[in-house]
Formats: sequence, structure tokens, C-alpha cells
Amino acid sequence: MASVTAPTVVAGRGRSPRGFFGILGHSYGYRNLLYLLLAPPITYLYVVLFLVILGLGNGGFTAFAPILILALAWPATVVERGLARALLDVEFTPMARSLPPGSSAWDHLKAHLLNPVTWKSLVYLVTRVFFGVFAFFLNFVLLAIAFAALLAPPVYLALLTVDWHAVGIFLWWRWWPLSDIGRLSDAIARYIAPNVSFSPQGMGISLLLVPVGVVLCAVALHIFHGVGMAWGWYARNMLGVNPKDIELAEARAATAAARQRADAAEKDRRQLVLDASHELRTPVATIRAHIDALLLLEGDQLSERVRAYLATTQHEIERLSLLVDDLLMLARSDSDGLELTITPVAVGAVVEEVFQALEPLAAHERQVTLVRHVAADLPDALADRARLAQVILNLARNAITYTPAGGIVALDVTPGAEPGTLAITVTDTGIGIAEDDLPHIFERFYRSDASRARHSGGFGLGLSITRDLVRAMGGGVTAERVAEGGSRFIVTLPLAHH
Ligand code: ADP
Repeated sequence: MASVTAPTVVAGRGRSPRGFFGILGHSYGYRNLLYLLLAPPITYLYVVLFLVILGLGNGGFTAFAPILILALAWPATVVERGLARALLDVEFTPMARSLPPGSSAWDHLKAHLLNPVTWKSLVYLVTRVFFGVFAFFLNFVLLAIAFAALLAPPVYLALLTVDWHAVGIFLWWRWWPLSDIGRLSDAIARYIAPNVSFSPQGMGISLLLVPVGVVLCAVALHIFHGVGMAWGWYARNMLGVNPKDIELAEARAATAAARQRADAAEKDRRQLVLDASHELRTPVATIRAHIDALLLLEGDQLSERVRAYLATTQHEIERLSLLVDDLLMLARSDSDGLELTITPVAVGAVVEEVFQALEPLAAHERQVTLVRHVAADLPDALADRARLAQVILNLARNAITYTPAGGIVALDVTPGAEPGTLAITVTDTGIGIAEDDLPHIFERFYRSDASRARHSGGFGLGLSITRDLVRAMGGGVTAERVAEGGSRFIVTLPLAHH
């Protein structure tokens, strides 16, 4: 990643040169020079193109001029990136972030206009014009000085021997593209040549200038390289997407993909539990029915041992059947498949039903006293009647299960602590819930050590189903420890009219 964030301009390909003169034997200084030599003609081309577009504008295409500039800027940017990559060794980030497949032309246009590179490349092209002018003078001055020194002896001799006036006239008249040089020759003939005369010292100095010229060439190449690096850095920042944006987009895409995978896996898991519990229901019910029938019809003829085996099987298949029902309920609740019919419900009547169903069992099998108290004149609550009965049954059954013989389980219906609510409280004088267990008892498959030790027969799903159902009805359920021993569960439901 570091190589992406830090703008890198690689100094030359292959071995990097050593020392000050190393640059003379390496390609990068010359490639940078070539880049600078190409800068003025390219600048010229841009200016001409710009003027042509403006000319078109004057000819009645005014509205199209900016569009044309914008349309041409992009290919120009591509060329610029290619040049900088080849001659300045700049490593670019992409010009635009890729769009998802299937994006429309409008999406592409929008992305293009919103892409900072689109606008930065325009700024780049404008500065490129100034850079072209700068490069022209830089090349001219540095190369002229370096070559003048390097070629001092032949220049000296040429000044003495050549008839510059004749050369000037020849170039001037015969070959018009070199007329400027012809003018230069003329100037040399007029102002410089007459002042130069042969002398051994002059020749000596001109010979001494040759090594100076070599040094100046190396200096010039270093300067070209420095300018090339600086311009390359600028080009990289202007003509490519910000690496941070790319990282951010990549991170976002990775997160989205991971979330999608997690969602898909979660959906598969829910579907599996839903299908599996659904499929298990029929065989479990069939086995259960067969064992019940066997014990009922053939019970007398079976030996004591076989009856004991069958009784254990019957007990376990009942547990299994409850578990399958619970799993199905949870799977439905997870996949929003709990189809509740919420209507105003007289909660007192539901509590009474549960009381009637459980009272004999509590008294005879567990020697636990079940009592109920419903406050007078309570309005109806909003609930699914059958599911509410299941909730109260779950809580009351738990209370009876976890209360030793001689204890009391009380079902109370009162106005809720918050206005507009109603509370159903199930209090017992049982073993209570340990402080550490309290935050977890509504979790799936959570069973306290105490309940495990008692072999209560549950799987730790009852309370999580209770909570799911109550929440689906727009209410809440809490559990607390009772100071004198025992537990209290409070179900709160919204009132139908308040
Ligand atoms: P289980 O089928 O094990 O009863 P539940 O989800 O109904 O599963 O209850 C989770 C755990 O909460 C139980 O294992 C038990 O430890 C604890 N618990 C629930 N109700 C009571 C209660 N009235 N008194 C004490 N502990 C209880």
C-alpha cells in the first residue's frame, strides 16, 4: 500500500547511475531531456487546437466549445500520462474508478463529471502550456551553454575560417526554413567574427573549455532530471485518482461484499433450521403416536423391562417434539414468519385459562400452590391471544419447574409501570436465578448450572421464544431476583386504547 500512497517517481530503469558523471552514461537524464524537448511542440499543438476550437466558437459553435474542450482533454490526458510514464518513469494510479458492470451511459457521464481527475487534467493542460514555454528556454540556455563549451575548439576555428557572411546569405536566400540561422550567421559575421583573431592562448582556452563542457553537460542533465522528477510528481497528482480514494473505495467494496456474504450465510442458516424443524415434525409426531398407542393398547402384555424402555423413549420423544416446535417457532421468528394477529385481548381471561390448565398439575405433581390475581377494571391489551397464552404458559411452567415442593407461584395482572401499558407478573418462591445468569437467560440454548443439575428437561429455548413473541406484540419482558428468594418475570404489553 505504501507504494500507492507515496507518489513515486522511479529514477531510471535498470541500474541507477553512480556519482555526478554517472548520469552521462545512463538513459534517464536523456529521456528527461527528450521529454523537455517535446514539451514546446506539444504546447504549440495545444495552443493551436485551443485556438481552432475558439475559432469554431466564433463561427457559431459557442455552446459546443466547452464540451469540445472537455471531450478532447481526456485523450490529451491519456497521451500525457503515456509520455510521462515512458520518459519520466511516473507510475500513475488509474484515471477513474471503475463503475459496476451494467452502468448506463448517464452513470458514466455523471461519474466522469464528478471525477476530480476530469477537472484536474484541465488545470494540468493549462499549466502544461506554461511548462512548454519554460522548457523551451531552459533547454535553449542549458544546451547552448553546455555545447558552446564542449565544442569550443571547432567553434573557435570556425569563427576564424568560415565566411559567415556568405553562409548567412546562402541560408537566407536558398533555404527559407533555416533563415533564422542565416540571420544568426549574418550577425556573427558582423559583430563577432571581426573581433576574433587567432592566438595560441585563444586556442588553449578553447581546448580547456572542452572538459568544462563535459561538466556542464552533466549539470544540464541533472537539472533536466530534477525538473523531470518535479513535473512527474505534479503529473502523477493531477492525472490519476487519489490513491486514498482508491483505498477507500476498495475497503468499502470489500466491506459490502463481506456483508453480503454474511447476510447470505445467515439467510441460508435460517432456512436450514426452518426446513429441518419443519421436516422433523412429522416423523417425530408419528413415533410419538406409535409409542403412545403401544403403551396404551399393549401395555398390559409387555414385560416390566420393555415398559420401562418405552416409557423412557416416550419421555425423550416428548422432549424432542417440544424442541422441534421451539426451533420451528424461533426459525419463523428469525425469518419474520411469525404471523401474529394482534387484537385487543382481555389479559385477565387468558391468565385465568393458563391458571386452570396448570393448577392441578402444580398442586398434584409438584406440590406447588398456583395463585392468580387480576386487578379490577383493566382495559384490554394489544396482543395475539394464542401467543400470549403461550408466553404466560412458558413463564408459569418455568416457575413451577424451578420451585421446590411447598412453594408458591403467583400470576398477577396490573397496570404497567409506564402509562399506557399493562403488566403480567409471574413470581415464584423457587431456587431463584444467579446474578451471573440473569443477563443471559433470554439467550438461545442458555441454561443455568442449577437448571442443568435439576434435569428440568428444557433446552434453554423457552425464554428466548417468550421474548421474541412479546417483542413481536410490541411489548417487553424482564427478569429479576426476589429478595426473599425466587424470581419474578414481568411481561409488559401496550394497552389497546389509552
Ligand atoms: P429451559 O427449557 O431450560 O427452562 P428457558 O429458556 O425457559 O429454558 O429458561 C432458561 C433458563 O433460565 C433455565 O435453564 C433456568 O436456568 C432459568 N430460569 C427460567 N425461569 C426460571 C425460574 N422461574 N426460576 C429460576 N430459574 C429460571
